[in-house]
Amino acid sequence: MVPGKYHRKGMTIVELMDMFPTESAATAWFESVIWPNGRYCPKCGSLHTREVPNAKPMPYWCKDCRSYFSVKTGTAMQSSKIPLRKWAIAIYLCLTSLKSVSSMKLQRDLGVSQPTAWFMMHRIRKAWGYDDSQPFDGPAEVDETYFGGKRKNMSNAKRKELTSRGAVGKTAVVGIKDRETNQVRAEVIVETDAETLQNFVEENTAEDATVCTDDAAAYKGMDRLHESVRHSVGEYVWEMAHANGIESFRAMLKRAHGGTFHKISLKHLQRYVSEFAGKHNIRNSGTLAQMRDTVARLVGERLLWRDLVADNGLPNLSQKRCRQLLRRCTLQVNVRINTHPRSFAHLNISSS
Ligand SMILES: [Zn+2]
Repeated sequence: MVPGKYHRKGMTIVELMDMFPTESAATAWFESVIWPNGRYCPKCGSLHTREVPNAKPMPYWCKDCRSYFSVKTGTAMQSSKIPLRKWAIAIYLCLTSLKSVSSMKLQRDLGVSQPTAWFMMHRIRKAWGYDDSQPFDGPAEVDETYFGGKRKNMSNAKRKELTSRGAVGKTAVVGIKDRETNQVRAEVIVETDAETLQNFVEENTAEDATVCTDDAAAYKGMDRLHESVRHSVGEYVWEMAHANGIESFRAMLKRAHGGTFHKISLKHLQRYVSEFAGKHNIRNSGTLAQMRDTVARLVGERLLWRDLVADNGLPNLSQKRCRQLLRRCTLQVNVRINTHPRSFAHLNISSS
């Protein structure tokens, strides 16, 4: 089940199949979600559109900018040859699987190739992309989780190592939760110094918001009303994201490490973290409402394969080689081939 409450309305696979019996039923549903007030051209916004008789190359034509389009145009699904029925099922599976969906499972369930399934999942995650345009009014709680575990669960030696927090190359996920609305945001940070953490807080909170953190020195002197609580903040943001997100992410890393891939990209980590934060934020809605919300958020998002597999300024493999490896891959969703060898060195994942 989706993270969340007992009173929200779920949806069974049978109900899902009844809802999308054919590709045209799926298309009609996507159109009703993406164009709730009537069809418009995604390229110029014009309402002067018409259907193309044989639906080729696209089912609609804009009279103003004279271009063809479909309901996928201008969304993260643009240029995808995958039928909308399969997209609907993928979104459903993603929303109803607490620990996300592996590309292997999606490959089997949808009958697509594994790279296609992997690419689909990353495009769906674009719906939950990081957005700090609406700062939290607070009170807000902030905490960070280090790869390698939470500070309070670490050995004294490890904790000592982190006390400076200025250490270069410490990968952490910093999360913030608004106590009033229960909304969360999370961001992968490579530096855990005062500047990075305080910038994160200031970008995500209103100027008069009260911010609650643990007693770490990095938060001292923050330009917000600041409450620092010793060893008490730990449980909040990660009650969902930590227990089911970061922990399962680490479990996934361990499984992944035993197989073809031995390294994970930081770039994908953010999308994965966003998925858990995004799912947390809509967890009280019914499954169908969550699906509508997710599809609506795909509008205006774009993720190209070349960007997905592009290097991060780090050693990279050719796209062809990526595809070859992905085809052979028996691993999980956000496993990637090229990253900085030291980025995850502190994860201490033992090879099985
Ligand atoms: Zn147009």
